[in-house]
Amino acid sequence: MKNFLFSSKIFKGSRYGEGHPLNIDRVWPSLDLLKIMNWVSNEQLVFNEPASIDELTIFHDIDYLRILQKAEKFQDLELKEKKKYNLGVGVNPIFKEVYSRPASAAKSSMRAIEFLASNKAEKILNFSGGTHHGRKNFASGFCFLNDCILAILKAKEFGFNKILYIDLDAHHCDAVQDYFLDNDNVQLISIHEKNKWPRTGKIEESKINNLMNIPVPENFNDNEMLFILNELIIPYCKAVNPDITIIQAGTDGLKDDPQSKMILSNSTYWHTISMLKDISTKTLILGGGGYNPYITAKAWAGNWLVLNSKEKLLQSKLNDECKEILRSLKWKNSRVRNGIPNKWLDKWIDDEVEMQIRDEVNEIVLYIQKIKKL
Ligand SMILES: [Zn+2]
Repeated sequence: MKNFLFSSKIFKGSRYGEGHPLNIDRVWPSLDLLKIMNWVSNEQLVFNEPASIDELTIFHDIDYLRILQKAEKFQDLELKEKKKYNLGVGVNPIFKEVYSRPASAAKSSMRAIEFLASNKAEKILNFSGGTHHGRKNFASGFCFLNDCILAILKAKEFGFNKILYIDLDAHHCDAVQDYFLDNDNVQLISIHEKNKWPRTGKIEESKINNLMNIPVPENFNDNEMLFILNELIIPYCKAVNPDITIIQAGTDGLKDDPQSKMILSNSTYWHTISMLKDISTKTLILGGGGYNPYITAKAWAGNWLVLNSKEKLLQSKLNDECKEILRSLKWKNSRVRNGIPNKWLDKWIDDEVEMQIRDEVNEIVLYIQKIKKL
């Protein structure tokens, strides 16, 4: 059985525009690192074209999809359209590939489900996906479409009855939860920073049959993540016993990401994914948030090794060619005012710091264990 890495050529050089947190390269550098290291072969790599409007209407409204295409074509919209679709206003800019790029990510996620359903693959990585805030008829939180929802709907279409979606991003998967609330075929687990935008994902909602919401405090550390993984997430996943698992693997919970105050190391992030990827035979791993381009590229390249159970290869220093790729990435952020810190360039694995499990985290675990009878 083969594992695949799905992506799209449109990501090369595609950015959201000056001043936006996603005016950075992530997908292409992650691929470049894998190619330099010979960790991915050409036959494992599948490039997809954008999904058509027809394919996307299993979730999205057709008028919104047409507006996205119009925005891409004319690079502008009328003010009333901008306001109605939350597009070209606030954090969701009209950029060069504003339809084609999210439609390509969506195509990869949907096609991945087809591959898994037809036994062409067991595990697929699509780090261009993970756009968990996108709504059916408007853009939200840097997300124009919602490939997570599209992938889950495809899985239902292909007859999967027990679908598990686990969201590791620092932000709560509000749109995914709203759409699949109370849907017994789809179990949703989200671990996210408490009181962070979009301020949804309350712990009390874990009382709802198909939800486990784990809002964690600032400075959420490695030991706390491992504790929650072992005490809550793994036992719950085993009880669900899914036919297919979809993991949203945003990296914005890593230490040194500017969009969260979580302080996870990449080794804990990789360990978490390695534990979750074999909950079911068939697994799709997506990307998501990740706003420090250096640590995101390393984390997502590492996810391909984790998916293939080859993460031991990460126990090395970065070679000069990999360092060069990382050094070439442009990022306007105070963290690189004096150059790129060596700790991001020297080696694949971050240093781990032993830290205490705080009372607040203990209480979260006890509260959810009681609700879910774990
Ligand atoms: Zn995020």
